[in-house]
This record gives sequence, C-alpha cells and structure tokens, in this order.
Amino acid sequence: MTEILSVDDASIARAAALLREGKLVAFPTETVYGLGADATNGKAVASIYEAKGRPSFNPLIIHVAETGALDTLIDWNDTARVLASALWPGPMTLILPRRKDAPVSLLASAGLETLAVRIPSHLDALKLLRAVGLPIAAPSANASGKLSPTTASHVAESLGEAVDLILEGGRSRIGVESTVIDVSGPEPVILRPGGITQEQLAAILGRNVAVPDAAMGGDDSPASPGMLTSHYAPHLPVRLNAEAAEDNEAFLGFGSVAGVGETGRLNLSPSGDLNEAAANLFAMLRALDSSAYVGIAVAVIPNIGLGAAINDRLRRAAAR
Ligand code: AMP
Ligand code: MG
Repeated sequence: MTEILSVDDASIARAAALLREGKLVAFPTETVYGLGADATNGKAVASIYEAKGRPSFNPLIIHVAETGALDTLIDWNDTARVLASALWPGPMTLILPRRKDAPVSLLASAGLETLAVRIPSHLDALKLLRAVGLPIAAPSANASGKLSPTTASHVAESLGEAVDLILEGGRSRIGVESTVIDVSGPEPVILRPGGITQEQLAAILGRNVAVPDAAMGGDDSPASPGMLTSHYAPHLPVRLNAEAAEDNEAFLGFGSVAGVGETGRLNLSPSGDLNEAAANLFAMLRALDSSAYVGIAVAVIPNIGLGAAINDRLRRAAAR
C-alpha cells in the first residue's frame, strides 16, 4: 500500500525530500488533492502523466509558496499583480508568459509559451511548498478521466501504488478546481470556471472578464482550457514513423533508431525509456526546429504507457 501520513514536521520533511529526489507526492489543497512533482525535473514531470494515465500532455499548474518565487518563472503584468495580491493564496490559477530561462521542464507546460501558476491557501500545502523550496507541478491527484479527489483515501483509491507518498490533510474545503484565468494577453479570459467566481474577478478588476463558451465544457472535455491555446507546433513539417532522415531532414530517434550526437539528429531516449522520451520531447522538437532543415522525421514510438501521449502530441505536430 502507498504510505499515507498525516501532516506534521516529520511527514513534511519526508515529503520534501521525496520531491527533491524526483518522486511523486500527493498533497491536500483547498481545491482538490494535487499530485506533485519537482517542476524543474523533466523525468519527475513525465511520471505525473504516467501515474494519471493521461492520453495526452495537458499543461500542468505550477505551485509555489510566495509570489517572489514566480519572478524567475513568468513575466508579470499589472492585471496579474492586482489579481495576485487580491486572491492569493487561494483557488486561482494565472496563465502568464513563461520566461525564456524559466527553470521549469517544457513538458510541464506542454511546450506552450505560457505557464500556469498558483499559490494555494491550504496551510499544509504551503508548509510543503516552503519546505521543498522548488516549483511543484501538480494536477489533480486522480487517474485521468476520473473524479477529482477531495480526501487522501480518494487519492489512494484512484492512483494506488503510482504515488510515492500521500499527505493526509483533511477534506478539501472548496472541492472544485481553481479558476484558470489567462492574463497573458491584452484582455483577461477565464479558461476554466472554479473556486473564484466571474463576479469576484469583475469586482476586483473593475471590468467584466470574458468566459468563452468552450471553457464551460468541464475539466476533461475536448474543449478543456489547454485546447483553447494553440500548443507549440514546430515551424517545420513533421514526418512520423520514419526509419531514417531524407535529404536535409532533421531526425528525432528513439531507442536503437538513429545515431546520437550527429548534427541534426537527436534521440528521445537511446535506452528506449518512454518516461525519458516524454521528458525530452518538447525540448528536442524545439532544438531541431531550425531553418537548417526542411522537416523533422520522427522514429516510431511504441504506443504503450507514455508512448500514447507522445504519439498524440506528435500527430498534432504533424497534422498541420
Ligand atoms: P489540472 O491539471 O486538473 O489541475 O488542470 C489544469 C488546468 O489548467 C487544465 O485545464 C489545463 O489545460 C490548464 N492549463 C495549464 N497550463 C495552461 C496554459 N499554459 N495555458 C492554458 N491552460 C493551461
Ligand atoms: Mg484534473
């Protein structure tokens, strides 16, 4: 059985140590329980998707304990400052431009130019975030497509052995996810309704905040927020299931396919580890997306485990 520990100094220290080692820790927040991993560690982030059995790479929310910890991750603007000082810590997630040098895995933001960030108000969540001192990527701690967990035992039922430690901190007070607000553009837009209402936002900002119809579809529907923003797509055409590069094509290999270290050739995981491949996917696509080549050929990726999410992303990149 997965270890479930109630929150005290010792369990917080242990949870922080596990997170620093790249392990998964489920923890209570005021919205729902989160499945946390070190956001700066690509393999740790990949194991979140693996544990949830997500068929695609939805971008994840990055959790920190105080606004200062966001300065190296995102570019602030006035709207974000106003909302942050009014509503954090609390059930609000802000989408902001991701800093070029942000030390967060590209997999955590699914290759997007933006980053979703939040300061939760649950005291146990804040204790953990302060103790670990790293940005923590955390989606809801349930298997993909299942109900969000509001108690530690929901987490254990849904994720079982896939999580290394569950911190028990009582029932989530709010019980619905955070409100996701995109403040990266000229007008704030609600991408997901949640713990903070449209009326609250309008009162704070002194103007109406739009909710596109598509945002009303619910968390895991095809119209979910991640789909509203166009995901990073390479400029070059992408050719799938390739055995080798053709003239002037870059090559993205996997396992024994494709040499490593040659110009224009990268390998997602020479050892054939799908977790490592997921962690490398967006960074390697970016590295090969250069005017030096006419396209990017990609080797066959087995469609098992995280391979399904990798192939989903590659099909989208190839489909344009
Ligand atoms: P969950 O992982 O269940 O907490 O849900 C996180 C929500 O935030 C999902 O609906 C994501 O699509 C959304 N999200 C996270 N990052 C971004 C981003 N950079 N742009 C737009 N939506 C995002
Ligand atoms: Mg969820």
